[in-house]
Amino acid sequence: MMKVRRYLRGSGRVLAFVFIASVIWLLFDMAALRISINDVNSHLLKERVIREREIIKQQSRVTQLMKRRFKHPVQRVDLAVTHAGTGPLPSDSKLAQVYRQGGKKQDQMLRDKNTEALQDQGGKNPKTEHPKHSEHKEGAASLNVTPKQGAPAKKKAVNLSLNGTKLDKSRVIGGYNRVKLPVIVSNTTQVPSGVQEDKRAPLPAEKKGPTKTGDVAQNAPDKTDSKPNKKVKDEAKTETGTKVSRLQAKEARPVKTTSKPPLKDVNRKEANIKTQEKHIKTVNKSDLDAVKETPKPTIKLQAGKDSKDNSTAVRKPGVHKVLSLDATRAPRDPNAVGQFGQAALVGSNEEVEVRKRWDEGHFNVYLSDQIPVDRAIPDTRPEMCAQNLVHDDLPSTSVIFCFVDEVWSTLLRSVHSVLNRSPPHLLKEIILVDDFSTKEYLKEQLDTYMSQFPKVRIIRLKERQGLIRARLAGAAAAKGEVLTFLDSHVECNVGWLEPLLERIYQDRRKVPCPVIEVISDKDMSYMLVDNFQRGIFKWPLVFGWSALPEEYIKKHNMSISDPIRCPVMAGGLFSIEKKYFYELGAYDPGLDVWGGENMEISFKIWMCGGEIEIIPCSRVGHIFRGQNPYKFPKDRQKTVERNLARVAEVWLDEYKDLFYGHGYHHLLNKKLIDIGNLTEQTELRKKLKCNSFKWYLENVYPDMVAPLVKAEGLVFNRGLRKCLSLQKGSLLFEICDLSKQSQHFNYTWMRHVRQQDLCVAPQGKGNGFALQSCDNTKTELRWFHKSSNSALAEHLIAEFVSHHMCLEAGPQGGTLHLNPCEPSNSFQKWQFTHYHAQ
Ligand code: UDP
Ligand code: MN
Repeated sequence: MMKVRRYLRGSGRVLAFVFIASVIWLLFDMAALRISINDVNSHLLKERVIREREIIKQQSRVTQLMKRRFKHPVQRVDLAVTHAGTGPLPSDSKLAQVYRQGGKKQDQMLRDKNTEALQDQGGKNPKTEHPKHSEHKEGAASLNVTPKQGAPAKKKAVNLSLNGTKLDKSRVIGGYNRVKLPVIVSNTTQVPSGVQEDKRAPLPAEKKGPTKTGDVAQNAPDKTDSKPNKKVKDEAKTETGTKVSRLQAKEARPVKTTSKPPLKDVNRKEANIKTQEKHIKTVNKSDLDAVKETPKPTIKLQAGKDSKDNSTAVRKPGVHKVLSLDATRAPRDPNAVGQFGQAALVGSNEEVEVRKRWDEGHFNVYLSDQIPVDRAIPDTRPEMCAQNLVHDDLPSTSVIFCFVDEVWSTLLRSVHSVLNRSPPHLLKEIILVDDFSTKEYLKEQLDTYMSQFPKVRIIRLKERQGLIRARLAGAAAAKGEVLTFLDSHVECNVGWLEPLLERIYQDRRKVPCPVIEVISDKDMSYMLVDNFQRGIFKWPLVFGWSALPEEYIKKHNMSISDPIRCPVMAGGLFSIEKKYFYELGAYDPGLDVWGGENMEISFKIWMCGGEIEIIPCSRVGHIFRGQNPYKFPKDRQKTVERNLARVAEVWLDEYKDLFYGHGYHHLLNKKLIDIGNLTEQTELRKKLKCNSFKWYLENVYPDMVAPLVKAEGLVFNRGLRKCLSLQKGSLLFEICDLSKQSQHFNYTWMRHVRQQDLCVAPQGKGNGFALQSCDNTKTELRWFHKSSNSALAEHLIAEFVSHHMCLEAGPQGGTLHLNPCEPSNSFQKWQFTHYHAQ
């Protein structure tokens, strides 16, 4: 009995133990369940956060990228930069060389033209730099290029002696060959690819470094005189700055210093040889190219000539060496702020002023106003450019500057750079189109100033039209055979015009663009860009710069001065034959204010039989600004988006899905945005029998990745291990079979799961399903899939419902539901056969 009782007691203990254990187990289980529920929730939350972040990121990327059409990450490559000639001859000697090569009659003609040029430019010298800075009035008389212009410079001894070394000076300007500059990582991204903040154009003397505005004022008495209010400069900085300025003044004089390399001699010697070798190659190659490409007479050096120095080469009649005209070769004030394209610093006491005036143009307006409007800049062309031959009978051009509230000094500097560095016989006129500016100084004062220059015409628009329609107004008024569009804050470099016109002469369907160099928005220095850069676009139609692939350069045996095929132009600066511009239907006048017009004209040119080229022998500096300084009549972002949508609709064919699919889905909602009537544009495209966008991608921009769908093939369900199939209008599951078309689906840029014209869509508010006709504007047809790397990456998440609902296969395989998303539910995981994009 005792035994039994003991036994019972024992088993009771066991039972009690089991009972307690189960209770504990249950408690743990419940806790675990709670945790797992939390886990799912947090997963979902995380997923949502990630997804939302992703969308915001994408949108902000779009906004960011839209910010500037030139914007591109700065490349930080320590590149050797080749500059114009190892000590080029001064302009007059260069011209003399040209005359020597031509027939006597032609010599006279050219000389006449040149004289005309100098009279046109020098005779009508810029009077003032800025109304507030009348110091240049006095200096203007000394902007003399040839003795013919007579008027002696009213300058102090040091300046006069510098003028006396004109020849040396011009040697100095271009006197750097291959300069390795140190790389300093810049904090700015408002520059085109390859631009380096530190990559200043070479200075006239061996010394480089910033000059300081105050110091220059000290060194140039004619300036200080006119600045009675100038405050006392920061002592320490003045000291350094003065030093730099004085060194320059001193070293600019002796020829021997200026013709010496600024950096390691060995490198330079090597570089010289290389450049010379390349030059020989280039001349021959470009000749060959010309033969291949052009129906017109080609330019050739005569056989047996030493290409290294073709000064003695007998040239064919009808061509001449590119004119390196530059009325600023011997600037009236070599010590002026920013002279020769140098960086200039302002004293710390002036920084407030700099900041105050920054927004007038979104660059250093304060500094710009102190730099001569006719400053010299270094000749940055590749060495061989100055030797190139161009035709004598090139077409003339109208240069069109559109502007709205442009800063006075930059507008003037743009105009003067054209007047000072263009062969006058080729410059028909300069048209300034005032796009309804609000600034007072751009009215009468501008009229008065420009009245000195017979070639300058001003057109005033009666209401704000925007860049695109302003250009159209300029084009309509132009009398030249070629239209050359420029932004109103540029500086055209030596010999910039003829190489552009030469390309058009060779083929009227060529649309040449100069290399756009960089004028720093901060210190106004003239900076160099990498070679072989061309304009491209990335989705969603964002302009950028990209270097030609190395293999392409090798394959085509390209030299740094060869024209570069350019899929998309930056937009600001280019030449186009006027008639051809109109044949192409000009710009779409439905584009507003700014943005997208460069895409439009680029696609149009390429797809309708033309070509866009970057011409390395033509170089123009441009101030890249962080923001547009002018107002947009409507919202800025909406304006640009609308313009881009117009371009996409007219030119992109089926590829427009890629545009919308990269963060622009909202543009498909016609209730939110009206992109206007496109009939005229689509008719034009038909009339011109333009190629397809597919053709453009394959032939012009083959390195562009443009998959028409994000994913395609079978849609495999992980839990069921079967594939989705569409049969007789309903969805079911089958054993996967690639050969069955009924199992083939696309996951598109519109985020559709699609077969032919049918899209998988949730039905009503329940969890049912239906197949609907695909419609890009309907958000309820969209599914997120692989939109992030998170726990729901493989799910198909319905986009239109606010809470997470995922597409789920029923365990028996006969059904399809919309259920709350569960990260680990394999019946909610889907896999397409091929993924082309994330
Ligand atoms: N511009 C204009 N009207 C406008 C917007 C711009 O005339 O509504 C002019 C502007 O003054 C400049 C040129 O168009 O000369 C190009 O504009 P911007 O320099 O702002 O373009 P970005 O260089 O930034 O692409
Ligand atoms: Mn610009």
